[in-house]
Amino acid sequence: MSIENAVVGVRDLRKAYGAFRAVDGVSFDIAHGETFALLGPNGAGKSTTIEILEGYRLRTSGEVSVLGEDPAAGRLEWKARLGIVLQSAGESGTATVREQLTQFARYYPDPRDVDELIAAVGLEQKAGTQIRRLSGGQQRRVDVALGIIGRPELLFLDEPTTGFDPEARRAFWQLIRDLQSEGTTILLTTHYLEEAATLADRVGVIAQGRMLDMGPVDDIGGADARIPIVRWRDSGGVHEARTAEPAIEVARLVERNGGTEPDGVEIVRPGLEEIYLDLVATARADAAREAEAGAHPPGDTTAPGGNRDTRDPRAAASAVPTPAASEEARR
Ligand code: ADP
Repeated sequence: MSIENAVVGVRDLRKAYGAFRAVDGVSFDIAHGETFALLGPNGAGKSTTIEILEGYRLRTSGEVSVLGEDPAAGRLEWKARLGIVLQSAGESGTATVREQLTQFARYYPDPRDVDELIAAVGLEQKAGTQIRRLSGGQQRRVDVALGIIGRPELLFLDEPTTGFDPEARRAFWQLIRDLQSEGTTILLTTHYLEEAATLADRVGVIAQGRMLDMGPVDDIGGADARIPIVRWRDSGGVHEARTAEPAIEVARLVERNGGTEPDGVEIVRPGLEEIYLDLVATARADAAREAEAGAHPPGDTTAPGGNRDTRDPRAAASAVPTPAASEEARR
């Protein structure tokens, strides 16, 4: 996809604060009507990236196109085509829900109907209530309503369901599905991996300002990361084996156990959450190794065992063992 054809096009984006590289060469595209989830631990560079796309922050270098324009230019007509739900904006004024939405609707050329919108975010019972008297989750729904009132072509949702109870979260997901079916392009950040898996077409995992992996929810991490894990327990502790044929592995276990049920048998199929944790743990270990190598160049004997340690740290750092670690468990 060329950068101009994408709704969002980002090439080698960098943002430095002094010597610190908060965003360190990130590239991705979001196609029309697509929902893209940007995932990563706190401090990964997600908000910085999003704020650059929204035109709130200037980049250090790289190319960025949002709805065909450079956000750094930030024209008013361009801004009216965006919907922005900031992280915990927490609308808390003395206006009622209906008053606030009615006022904001005036800023847009073709706003949604206020009462329909209030119903869509599930606040019918609270339309006449002052926003400051709403619960945190209800205030968040007002934030979302304000973000979509102008029928945005591109919607930024920064941790939209933080503080929602499970029922409210599901109602919110339905609202997002409705927006998706209307053709809205969405950039989502969330710490709820189930939310990303449910809503996103593609995800990008970012850490230390770099994109670790990117792809459709079902492909991220690669095929090997999805090989099922068989777990069981015996007097020696908990064991794991990774195998594409988990049922056969379980049958073998039963046979080895004299035809009786082994303790604590389970088959785990790694989902987005396990794969995400593995990617982030690997990146963190790589970064720590790089930092140590920088602090103690090869040959420096003051390094506390660092230069000798070439083991893959993933097995220890992650909930999902590497195939090598599983092989060990199998023996
Ligand atoms: P995320 O949204 O993924 O949690 P951020 O984009 O907010 O991450 O931050 C990325 C990194 O940049 C963090 O280490 C943060 O402390 C740093 N950072 C963010 N804004 C500034 C700033 N204005 N000055 C210096 N450092 C900043």
